[in-house]
Amino acid sequence: GESLLFRPGRIGSLDLNHRILMGAMHLGIEGQRDSLPQLKAFYEERVRGGAAMIISGNVAVLPEGGGHGMFCLTEADHLAQLTELIKAVHNAGGKMALQLTHWGRYAKSSETGRTPWAPSPIASRLTKETPAEMTLADIAKLKKAFAAGATFAASAGFDAIEIMGSEGYLLNQFVSPLTNKRTDGYGQSLDGRMRLCLEIVEEIRKQAGNDPPIIYRISGDDFMEGSTTREETLEFARRLEQSGVDALNVGIGWHESSLPTVGAIVPPGAFAHIAASIRAAVSIPVIGANRIHTPETAEQLLARGDIDFVAPARPWLADPAFAQKIIESDRDGLNLCLSCNQACLDHTLGHPPKPVSCLVNPRAGKEAVTIPPADKPLAIAVVGGGVAGLQAAKTAAERGHHVTLFEADNRLGGQFRLASHIPGKDIFRETIRYFRVSLERLGVTIRLNTSPSMQELNPFDRVIMATGVQPYIPETLEGVDLPHVCTYADILSGTRPLGRQIVIVGGGGIGSDVAHYIVEKMKLQPHVQTFFAERGYGSEHHETVTITLVSRSEKVAKGVGPTSRWVLLAELKRSGVQIVKGYRCTAITSEGVWVENDSEKRFLKADQVVLCTGQRSRTEMAEFMKEQLHADLIGGASDASELNAARAIRQAYELAAGV
Ligand code: SF4
Repeated sequence: GESLLFRPGRIGSLDLNHRILMGAMHLGIEGQRDSLPQLKAFYEERVRGGAAMIISGNVAVLPEGGGHGMFCLTEADHLAQLTELIKAVHNAGGKMALQLTHWGRYAKSSETGRTPWAPSPIASRLTKETPAEMTLADIAKLKKAFAAGATFAASAGFDAIEIMGSEGYLLNQFVSPLTNKRTDGYGQSLDGRMRLCLEIVEEIRKQAGNDPPIIYRISGDDFMEGSTTREETLEFARRLEQSGVDALNVGIGWHESSLPTVGAIVPPGAFAHIAASIRAAVSIPVIGANRIHTPETAEQLLARGDIDFVAPARPWLADPAFAQKIIESDRDGLNLCLSCNQACLDHTLGHPPKPVSCLVNPRAGKEAVTIPPADKPLAIAVVGGGVAGLQAAKTAAERGHHVTLFEADNRLGGQFRLASHIPGKDIFRETIRYFRVSLERLGVTIRLNTSPSMQELNPFDRVIMATGVQPYIPETLEGVDLPHVCTYADILSGTRPLGRQIVIVGGGGIGSDVAHYIVEKMKLQPHVQTFFAERGYGSEHHETVTITLVSRSEKVAKGVGPTSRWVLLAELKRSGVQIVKGYRCTAITSEGVWVENDSEKRFLKADQVVLCTGQRSRTEMAEFMKEQLHADLIGGASDASELNAARAIRQAYELAAGV
């Protein structure tokens, strides 16, 4: 039958062509006049890519509730820019909702120059600042500011507004008993805690009438111990509907929550039951967002009746034609988001913050720059079918060059394919599929099992070497050639059976990923213990495996981005991986590994030692071709200091864009 995603839908008085919206994303360039052309180009491209409606990045209603690189409604020029933006979206044939927010105790005084506001003066783990308790005058000012935002949205022509009431921002702080300790009418009972949110909705209705429709982003579950209960949330949802809200968008988890909500480790659709319980309590449409990154998950949640609309955000960064391709049933051509956060959330949360891009789509954040077709089509050889080579081949072919891609292995993907064995990274194979399909469609010649000689490369006009990296083996380390020593590549490719006392040397990103891989692999082993126990045999048959991670640095998994690192470390801790921090490995014996720091020496027993001691470029050939054929080196072939797919893909894109 026809996909439920393609059915027309309605939010209040607003008709929408289908059920795939684009969720709010902060791009880190908002509010800057000279970035407006880029902002417009970014949204226009997503309109053309089929979004039924786009929800804008969050716009602060008052200055102390915003942050770095964010629109604020009290800035006259920001209003002018937003007006130009909605015009551009309309001219492209799209629809857009304006998201109104106040960050409350998540705002940083270092960015706003003001003391943050909150219902009660409770410090936030996120900012380590104690906010000021809002006075009744502040509350009245806030209500007016939200209503003014809605009036502005209506006059500028926005198709809807979304009130940000989840993820632990100010309105969510009022609802939660954890952050609302007020003793006046805006606290205590659920009625008191909901009051401000309901009054804001009513005030908007009074000022702006029935248009634009109001979407309220409600927190489906804060995932904070002792916060709003499920029953309270359902009651709040009903009351929002009664107050005039036209749709509920269900947000999940506070930024302070210790439950991962946005990482690849979260199962797809994991929070759908929460949205479903809210949908059962109200009669207005419900929108779901978290971890809906494939058309299959989206379709399933609609078919099950959990939600009425999907509003994924990051998948639109990865593929600006997300909805269009789904509607055209071009699943093979879809570039899926990996939930890696490496070039999006980790950029906005970095110090200093950087504008958003995307690991799998280096064009994200650069939509205003058009890459012209090549003046003269050249014959281009790309050597290496990892992501750097794949991206270079794709961009060069898109520009009209005749591209041949050589890959030494029998499959494409390189280190990216190896990494796809790590828990939560199986989706990396989708990226390789996307590149393969794109290259096929562009007519790129792909030659697997081939390491081209200089004679073969000589006839090409340009040669791009993307031969990647191989594991670095510290040759001078005593015992490094013993038979129980192997590399991360041996483990991840499955060519080495696992030991029982495993010591991983190297506590960087790869070492930590390998530990995680082994933990998950062990869970999948046949249940030896159960087999014996069910037959009455004892615990002496209990298979025990120990995993020890030796890290030189005190900071384990140092290179991993802030949104993923804590999740990974928590997984290792939960799984009983022993971490030996601040020790270097000095020798390997047949019995184990010697490690030391400045004050002591320790021996760790091991029947298997896995080297995660970095990578080195496959330089011999790359350097040779560089000298002989003026080849360009990209990705790991140019710099192996840290495996960074985002950088490799970006570098490949930029090089091929200029060839
Ligand atoms: Fe998705 Fe990663 Fe791209 Fe962010 S950087 S949009 S998480 S693929």
